[in-house]
Amino acid sequence: MHRPDPHSYYDAGQPKARRLRLKLGVDFAAKRIDGEVVLEFGGTKAGPLDLDTKGLEIHTVQVPEHGPVTWSLGDVDPILGQRLRIDLPQDAQEVIISYRTGAEAMALQWLDPEQTEGKVAPYLFSQCQQIHARSMVPCQDTPIARIAYHAEVNVPEGLTAVMSAGPAGDEALPGDRHLFRFTMPQPIPSYLLALAVGRLEARDLSPRARVWAEPETVEAAAWEFAGVEDMILKAEGLFGPYPWDRYDMLVLPPSFPYGGMENPRMTFLTPTLLAGDRSLVDVVAHELAHSWTGNLVTNASMEHFWLNEGFTVWAERRILRTLHGDDAAALGWAMGQKALEDSLARFKDEPHLTILRMHLEGIDPDDAFSSIPYEKGARLVAALEKEVGEDRFHRFIRQYMDAFRFTSITTEQWCAFVDETLPRALEAVNARAYLDQPGLPETAPQFHSAQLDALAALADSWATGGRPTDAQIAAWKPAELQVYLQKLPRQLSQADCAWLDEHFQLMGRGNHEILVEWLTLAAAADYEPAFPRIREVLLRVGRMKYLRPLYGALGQHARTRALAREIFAAASPGYHGLSRRVVQSVLEAYSA
Ligand SMILES: [Zn+2]
Repeated sequence: MHRPDPHSYYDAGQPKARRLRLKLGVDFAAKRIDGEVVLEFGGTKAGPLDLDTKGLEIHTVQVPEHGPVTWSLGDVDPILGQRLRIDLPQDAQEVIISYRTGAEAMALQWLDPEQTEGKVAPYLFSQCQQIHARSMVPCQDTPIARIAYHAEVNVPEGLTAVMSAGPAGDEALPGDRHLFRFTMPQPIPSYLLALAVGRLEARDLSPRARVWAEPETVEAAAWEFAGVEDMILKAEGLFGPYPWDRYDMLVLPPSFPYGGMENPRMTFLTPTLLAGDRSLVDVVAHELAHSWTGNLVTNASMEHFWLNEGFTVWAERRILRTLHGDDAAALGWAMGQKALEDSLARFKDEPHLTILRMHLEGIDPDDAFSSIPYEKGARLVAALEKEVGEDRFHRFIRQYMDAFRFTSITTEQWCAFVDETLPRALEAVNARAYLDQPGLPETAPQFHSAQLDALAALADSWATGGRPTDAQIAAWKPAELQVYLQKLPRQLSQADCAWLDEHFQLMGRGNHEILVEWLTLAAAADYEPAFPRIREVLLRVGRMKYLRPLYGALGQHARTRALAREIFAAASPGYHGLSRRVVQSVLEAYSA
């Protein structure tokens, strides 16, 4: 037995499925999916096949020409779920499993009509990263076992299904149902399986890019992301030709727990990016870059998550720099520094979660999730680039993409490849300190610009009366204001808050990065005029990046703690399961 991924029952000694054929019946009344999955093998030996499941009701398991075969579900592991062991006969080409998703499937969020923009139809979306595909379909749920897939999704008439795959036709069915077909011909890790069903419309942004959203937001989304083709071209300059045919995006309802999810051919995005001024499209650059770093070359397990995220953050800022210049990239790195410092502080008593090459046996990868693989990882990549020079590094990136296309690799494989292509570079940047030691190495690259240093100096002078001038207030772009707010002292007085709000009109901001940074400062200051806006944001938005700091800041005063508990009680049913867990852990820390 060889289980290469601590988060999967996948056994590398057993047959590996090459492709899945899915039939998914979406039942909004029961909030379940009735599923059938065919796992295609190229012929098997007789013996056990171990699959991952979580909360699934397994109905039947069959092998064509053999009929039903014996199977059993193992004990429930709170992180992994249940092993489904199937006794394979000799030469099984396929295994057919019929099943139903559980009521608590972490991959799925079922929204009532009131939780959508249109408020007239229900909505379903999936989020399979980190290890939740197994709550949607029984499979070898590890990035090592890549799969192509074909799917038929049966939904109520009037709703549209989209998946992380190419569309392959649709048709009306009897009984007021509609069938959508999809094909993903390239092998993907299971965490990139993705499905959304709702009242959806699309707008074309370029011959290969389209944005989907509810009709109420699709125009705003098309305007906000109009520049995506430019980004694709810049990314191709970095990585080579776009490998997935189409780059489509879906703007989800506000409960979506992440900023974006790089589902191939259909990036999922939070509607909090719709700032109305295109100021938050760096998230699109990030998800787009994942088309190469993450989706094309993939981490072998969540222990090597930094390979996905570190390279992607680095690429995101390279794309930003080509599009908007050095200052914009430096501001991006500064925002990342803040996120990194917050995460290092959060894990100060769990230093093993601050190294890049993580050891996650017995640890839920959602609990290990933080900005560290992103920002510490990106700093290692930037350090290597600095060491060997931009041109050489550019060639290295292309070689790296070519060498590992459509494969899933470990940090060890990556190190061996770097040693081969950039001899001695790992030692020169002290890569071990990033990979295996907690915190951030002192030699990590620093990112400066005159603009950034001026913003930092001005924020530092707050306590001694330094304030932005009217001219600065009028001239700052959203990213400058965001960095300025991030660099202000964390404990402001109520008079400070009043000054900021009056001069920057913060309460009405549509840019959620600025709005939430401001509300976090206001919450920490027990600043009552901000309470209604805090309530409004926390009731509407489920993005974990915002919930954690905002609920955290509310923990500092008795009055704001009461407010946080009251808001959570009302908001919790509308939160995604992942978001709910994050807030619960923040609220539990209040009393500690
Ligand atoms: Zn990412």
